[in-house]
Amino acid sequence: MRVLFFFFVSEVFIFISLADDMRWVSCYSICVPSNSRVLMLLGQLERMNGEAMMRDVETARQVTAKIFHLIQTQGESKHTQNDNALYCTFHRRVLSLPQSTRDVQTTLNILYILSELLTVGEGRRVGVFVSKGGTGILFQILITTSKELPPSEELMLQLHSLLAKVGPKDRKFGVKARLSGALNATVNLTKQNLQNTKLLLPSHNVVRLYWNSTVNAISLGKNGVVELMFKIVVPFSKKNTSLLKVALDALGALLKSKTNARRAVDAGHVHVLLALYQDWHHNDTRHRHMLIRKGLLVCLRNITNIKLGRKAFIDADGMRILYYSSTECLPVRTLDPLVNTSSLIMRKCFPKNRLPLPTIKSAFHYQLPHVPAVGPVAQLYSQPLGVDDVVDESDDNEETDADTENDTDNEEDEKDQHTDIETDLNKLHPKKNPGRPFEELKVYERFFLELSEDFQVSNLSTRPIIVPTAQALSPKHVPITSCQEDCNPTKAERAPPSPSVPTPAPPASLTPLELDTIHLTKDQDRKEEARIPSPDTHTTLSSLTSNWGSDCGSEGTEDEGGEGAVLEVPDTALLLPLHDPDLYVEMVKGTHSVPQYAEVAYPDYFGHIAPTFREPLQERVYGVQRSKIFQDIERLIHPNDIVDKVVYDLDIPSCPVIEDNGESLKFNSQFESGNLRKAVQMRKYEYDLVLNSDINSNHYHQWFYFEVSGMRVGTTYRFNIINSEKSNSQFNYGMQVLMYSVQEAISGRPRWVRTGTDICYYKNHFARSSIAAGGQKGKSYYTMTFSTSFSHKDDVCYFAYHYPYTYSTLKMHLSKLEALRTPQIYLRRDVLCETLGGNSCPLLTITAMPESNSNDHICQFRNRPLIFLSARVHPGETNASWVMKGTLEFLMGTSPLAASLREAYIFKIVPMLNPDGVVNGNHRCSLSGEDLNRQWQNPNPELHPTIYHTKSLLQYLAHIQRAPLVFCDYHGHSRKKNVFMYGCSVKETVWQSNISATSSDLHEDLGYRALPKILSQIAPAFSMASCSFVVERSKESTARVVVWREIGVQRSYTMESTLCGCDQGKYKGLQIGTRELEEMGAQFCVALLRLKRLTGIRNHQHLLDLESDIIGTQSKVVSPTTYVVEEDEPSFLEEIDYSAESNDEDAEPEIEHGIEVQENANHLDRLSDCETNHKD
Ligand SMILES: [Zn+2]
Repeated sequence: MRVLFFFFVSEVFIFISLADDMRWVSCYSICVPSNSRVLMLLGQLERMNGEAMMRDVETARQVTAKIFHLIQTQGESKHTQNDNALYCTFHRRVLSLPQSTRDVQTTLNILYILSELLTVGEGRRVGVFVSKGGTGILFQILITTSKELPPSEELMLQLHSLLAKVGPKDRKFGVKARLSGALNATVNLTKQNLQNTKLLLPSHNVVRLYWNSTVNAISLGKNGVVELMFKIVVPFSKKNTSLLKVALDALGALLKSKTNARRAVDAGHVHVLLALYQDWHHNDTRHRHMLIRKGLLVCLRNITNIKLGRKAFIDADGMRILYYSSTECLPVRTLDPLVNTSSLIMRKCFPKNRLPLPTIKSAFHYQLPHVPAVGPVAQLYSQPLGVDDVVDESDDNEETDADTENDTDNEEDEKDQHTDIETDLNKLHPKKNPGRPFEELKVYERFFLELSEDFQVSNLSTRPIIVPTAQALSPKHVPITSCQEDCNPTKAERAPPSPSVPTPAPPASLTPLELDTIHLTKDQDRKEEARIPSPDTHTTLSSLTSNWGSDCGSEGTEDEGGEGAVLEVPDTALLLPLHDPDLYVEMVKGTHSVPQYAEVAYPDYFGHIAPTFREPLQERVYGVQRSKIFQDIERLIHPNDIVDKVVYDLDIPSCPVIEDNGESLKFNSQFESGNLRKAVQMRKYEYDLVLNSDINSNHYHQWFYFEVSGMRVGTTYRFNIINSEKSNSQFNYGMQVLMYSVQEAISGRPRWVRTGTDICYYKNHFARSSIAAGGQKGKSYYTMTFSTSFSHKDDVCYFAYHYPYTYSTLKMHLSKLEALRTPQIYLRRDVLCETLGGNSCPLLTITAMPESNSNDHICQFRNRPLIFLSARVHPGETNASWVMKGTLEFLMGTSPLAASLREAYIFKIVPMLNPDGVVNGNHRCSLSGEDLNRQWQNPNPELHPTIYHTKSLLQYLAHIQRAPLVFCDYHGHSRKKNVFMYGCSVKETVWQSNISATSSDLHEDLGYRALPKILSQIAPAFSMASCSFVVERSKESTARVVVWREIGVQRSYTMESTLCGCDQGKYKGLQIGTRELEEMGAQFCVALLRLKRLTGIRNHQHLLDLESDIIGTQSKVVSPTTYVVEEDEPSFLEEIDYSAESNDEDAEPEIEHGIEVQENANHLDRLSDCETNHKD
């Protein structure tokens, strides 16, 4: 006879299948030293199992009752909590033998014992009980009992109570229930006992657990359980509220199944649920039954996961009902869960709107020299004319409204591990072979004159350096050579010692007219001829200048009022040594944009002087997202308030600015880096804004830069950018937009300031076509909303995502930097190549002149290690340019540190890898419609010339054994705070991916950690904790990974600067500004000098010690990698829900779980974020 015994010994549960008496005896004598009374009884029970039990029912009852009594009393006494054994025997056979199982009392006693024992031990015992098959035994008893007629009510009650306790611990509870038949037993019990509250309560609890398996939920639905539950759910009554609560929970769980939801909709229950909700809302005036009201909402929430449900909800006037009930709940903070769930349902059901656009393709088109055979651009070009790409033709496929009939319970998470760069060691190891014949690369020699320069022939300091044009490099580079030929030097290249860099003049047809008329001046003798950078010819600068004298007390304006007033340009020369408005206008004339912009934005013209005051991260106001969403819903509730007037529209190329009577704001963004496509006045002081897609693309917008005028002073305006794409944004975590006021500028404060209140970022009701959503249907856009007021009348204000930094600004800065050259500085400015759009891509070489032309000095000069830097491959990441400005300014500086640095290294710098993207207001791509930082593995010389030639430079260096010591590509990061680096390490990648590869066998120089470590010590904005050295597959074609793997640069990095601010260090709690960004660029240089000292140490072992020391102090090996998992964002009391996706079954947006889910989502976001979405 096989007997199963369970022992609880000091929280340890021992299970014995008693095969022989010896084991039993030995076990209990060891484990159960005391408590002889219970042991004795157990022994007695054990001896009488089987036949004896059947014969002597009475004894069995008595013995089990005694055991129960003893355990119960022990359970109350203190000493059982100690080490003395608590045990139980559970005689399976007793229950399965016909005679004894029918003895209800004995079975009950045993259940009581179990229940008593399982109550202690904080769930661990339950876990052990489950793992030893306890659930199955309970189900067996349940089925056996249910066959009795009538089944014992007490037994059923006990069984279901036990099951409700055990179920949550058993992952396969649902499957076991179905397979054993217990599912039906419970359902039948419920059906037969609809009036029996006492019994229904535990059985509902169990029903709720059964749902764990979708198949069960469907099966329960087929058995009429949904209907059954609706019979139990009743209007407001103070009776049986706990039963109602549980029934609603069970119903809510069942309705997660789409099949059941459909069943409920068909039966008209959406209407019923809404009516019930209203009833409870009106009658539960003291808010005693919040959970019931919430339960009703959860049912609605789950039903509206299906399209049919949403339709039924709208038809039943659900929007209005929930809107008004929520409005009434708003003042009572404890009712927040109701408001939040209501808001979630309303957002889900809000009819999907269409973006007010004819097409989501960029308003501007650029004809590529050739269209790649595959990829997004090919797709875009092959899209037939007339296809509506703004919304999907039909959203019938959005969801099937049917469940997939699979049990997921048994599926183990299987990771597909074997094809990944992250796990394939061979792929991970740097490739030494640059993969191109040297003959092909030899042409790049001319960009490295410093490596062969002998300085013997001419004067060291004035010898002009002849620079080849990039055109000679690539014979394939035809399309723009024509305009290359008739180039004439611009003002930028006039400075005598600077190398002559030919840049193309704009073809006559492209020459912008307005540009030539711009002669804004600092000199009051010169009359103003320019017009405001707005196509509205009636708004001239004079109308602006006529007012500022009185408004702002600007000094020295003589010719006030009247046409031809002088525009006073703030004198920024002292504070902005690299800025010159006249030079800027000159630069703009040589810049080629696809829309042929002829206007200059004031901020770029005047320049920006970083404010001296602190700009703290903005505290998020509680409930801001909710109130914005409610305002959006009001558009539906009160349609009469909606103006819906288009005030700016790029899709009307002749006249984007729509004239009106002055009741609306005026918008414009037809200038370099501008990208507003459309502005629609929705309410009196509220505007919906639509951003333009990157050229040759139908999405990628996040960056914005536009101008507003015609404002009323003191009025608060709300702006909504309604076609944002990313799933989260730092606008939810303290970041504000940037505003530049022209009135402020001419009053002596030319600067961008962080501005905006009520800022938040949330998923909206504008449908996102599957064409622009990676093929996924049913996706929505996000709204970035902010409110602001204006302090000056007749002002012209600009708003931007981040501090603008145009290509013309770069050219101006480079010109000014060249003027800073001293005889000790070796600076060369080459044109690496022309871009598709006809802009030249500058390449800088900076080092120190050799001390003399002696052989030794020339030799030292040539052999300096190289540092290769690049920036702004992503146009929307303007912060990268500001960091680069800091680096360049430091390198050209006069400080001893700068001098040492120049003597230590040769710097090769491509300060703007994507000029076309910057000029045309793209967020992420080049004119080819592609992310250039995903083209490094195989750049196309025609489509990705800047990447192709930059990579060639590096390949050339690798060939001549001069691969750079450090490569770093500057980026901006939209979702994280601080400044940090991504690097490449085989070892950390292997650790990260957890493959069992014997990573101890890997030998890796830890040098890649030195630079970020030094930075974390000297640069206040830099955070080591945010750095990662993992090589992800998704980053395979980024500059960092390709330069590391193919060129063999161990110290190959992406440096990411926050767009938002810092949460550590000196700038903790502050938003980042250009001063901090420029400082970062300078500190990067200082760090390189320290790195030089570190790598200069002869004793290599010493170096390793130093670095392992660095690692030791830094990471404490939290995980073997520094890949950050910790939160970088504060969690809010307020739920920020991004998961309102209609077909998102797993969404658990209730506040209880919401936070956890949200944190998980954030975590995942961050994991995938860094470079993929946001970016490298
Ligand atoms: Zn980037």
